[in-house]
Amino acid sequence: MSLSPPILPLPDDDAAIGSALDGAELLALLGACAHVTGDASILREHLRPDPLRLREPQGGLDPGQVAEAKQLCLAALRRFRDGGGEPTRPDHAHLRRIMEFIVGQDLDDRYLPLLEEELAVEGRDLRAPAWHVDRIDGTRSLRIAVIGAGMSGIAAGHRLAQAGVEHTIFEKNDDVGGTWFENSYPGCRVDVQNHMYSFSFAQRHDWPQYFSDRHVLADYFRRVADDLGVSDRIELRTEVVSCTWREDDAVWELVVRSDAGERIERFDAVVSAVGQLNRPKLPEIEGRDEFAGVAFHSARWDHDVDLAGKRVVVIGTGASACQFVPVIAREVAHLTVIQRTAPWLIPAERIHQDVADGFAWLLGHVPFYAQWYRFWLFWRGAEGMLPAATVDPDYPPTERAVSDRNDEMRALLTEYLRAMAGGDDELFEQMVPDYPPLSKRFVLDNGVWPATMREEHVSLVTTGIERIEPTGVRTTDGVLHEADVLIYGTGFQAADFLTPMRVTGRDGVDLHERWAGDARAYLGIVAPGFPNLFFLYGPNTNIVVNGSIIYFSECEVHYVLDCLRLLLDTGTRSIECRPDVHDAYNERIDAANQLRTWGFSSVSSWYKNDTGRSAQNWPHSVLEYWEQTRRADPDDYVLR
Ligand code: NAP
Repeated sequence: MSLSPPILPLPDDDAAIGSALDGAELLALLGACAHVTGDASILREHLRPDPLRLREPQGGLDPGQVAEAKQLCLAALRRFRDGGGEPTRPDHAHLRRIMEFIVGQDLDDRYLPLLEEELAVEGRDLRAPAWHVDRIDGTRSLRIAVIGAGMSGIAAGHRLAQAGVEHTIFEKNDDVGGTWFENSYPGCRVDVQNHMYSFSFAQRHDWPQYFSDRHVLADYFRRVADDLGVSDRIELRTEVVSCTWREDDAVWELVVRSDAGERIERFDAVVSAVGQLNRPKLPEIEGRDEFAGVAFHSARWDHDVDLAGKRVVVIGTGASACQFVPVIAREVAHLTVIQRTAPWLIPAERIHQDVADGFAWLLGHVPFYAQWYRFWLFWRGAEGMLPAATVDPDYPPTERAVSDRNDEMRALLTEYLRAMAGGDDELFEQMVPDYPPLSKRFVLDNGVWPATMREEHVSLVTTGIERIEPTGVRTTDGVLHEADVLIYGTGFQAADFLTPMRVTGRDGVDLHERWAGDARAYLGIVAPGFPNLFFLYGPNTNIVVNGSIIYFSECEVHYVLDCLRLLLDTGTRSIECRPDVHDAYNERIDAANQLRTWGFSSVSSWYKNDTGRSAQNWPHSVLEYWEQTRRADPDDYVLR
């Protein structure tokens, strides 16, 4: 696994290239062709996509445009091959032109440095730390504890090793992979394309599917950890019970528990990489403990329970339930799905598909195609979606839509739901959400969810739950939905960051008491009163639109490494965020979240904590998070 897998020379056989083009994502490939040949003339104005249709197949190009794009790519690739197969070095103007072509709109210059990092034109990993502990102060010991070996912990381990920083990664589970290790429910897979949902430093061209299932993902994270030597520093089956700051020695004292019992270890700094979506949330419904059949949560799937021929009730219609319900529907006798809030479904025909023939071949033969494809996904999934999530105060915003753009999205998605309901008006009414699109996480759908809801033995129930009884779930209309098995697809305790670990900072302050259910941090990474403690995937570092959370983690890791560099550079023992910087930042975050769909809408979602604050969401562009985490500013900190 590497920054960029090797690129093979294009063959002499034009027919082979031509047939591979049938599997191409043409906008990104046109970009790559313009990049390697230096020829911008192939970026024809009439092939520039409509930014509103980028999520459609081939970015919304019609069949005539697709045919023309293929011809242009074939001709460009032949020229490139016949000219020696050496990519040109694009200047900023050329890069910008390609970028603006493939996303269909003019872009800020500020994207160029980010793009250059992504493209890694010189084959160098520009995200690797530009410092090494030996070159700063070879005598200074700096020992770090990383808690968790999921996606964030592995990224932290890799970068710490590159900087020569000694560290240990504690993982409570039997294996690495975090969420992809823990969630084993049927149908579990990622809903962000893997060519983007993957480490920038460990790319692969051979993803078997666009959206991998949990087995492929768990294997990927295990392989990355092994190949990069991260595994050597992981202690599995070892849980961190508590972290206590010892002011006199400026160290964190950790109580760690393993099969051998509890022990105390001291570290100069702690990086929490414990994730957000791993502690199941069971709903507070009266009678929950009275159910006489088998009950379990989606994230603690009981594989010993044979569902064949059973009457099953599922509570919840979030991302997890929408994945396992269609799978278990194939075997159960009867399935009742209880929906409190309808999810917005976004058409995604590829969600279960193998990658097209020729696609992986092109990634392995056309330099920079993989990088431009990744950038295109990044834009389509995250930055390009933000305008539709922005509240227009003059619109005026309502629980129906928050802007013209948001309303256009509502119309498109409603049209999809109507088509999918197949003439069943009642089902259509049940499936149309009553809140603005992008207020909570949407669900990718290839028609499977509505088709499952239309099946004879499946009932979608939208009446509220009154109580759980020994034989099933009673709804407020008095109906008892009988069940042999009850499955909770009710999500996670996402707002309870870092629980159940006890964290005691300067002056004996308990982190959870300080937060009081409303976790906040500066950049989602540091909190005043807790020196040398860093959070990955902390408060307000989530995206509702469909970007990759790995990207956020990599930004956070980069920033943490820079904080450590500051410690070494200044010869100080502790780095602590200034309260005024933290507070002003959080005020800005809260105000900005109010201007997004998820902050404006009152729809229930795990993005809000019990105080009603959007405690999970990053309100700005993904570019802005990258910019703000480039470098730790000493003025934001007290260094002692
Ligand atoms: P979730 O999005 O929080 O969904 C929980 C569901 O349970 C919602 O439908 C919720 O209804 C319902 N619910 C909760 N309490 C209830 C109650 N008392 N009565 C009735 N219904 C109740 O949880 P999730 O589906 O596990 O997904 C969580 C997040 O994990 C996702 O947003 C995503 O970020 C991540 N995830 C990703 C993937 C993927 O990549 N493919 C897959 C699964 C999960 P309301 O909507 O009314 O609250």
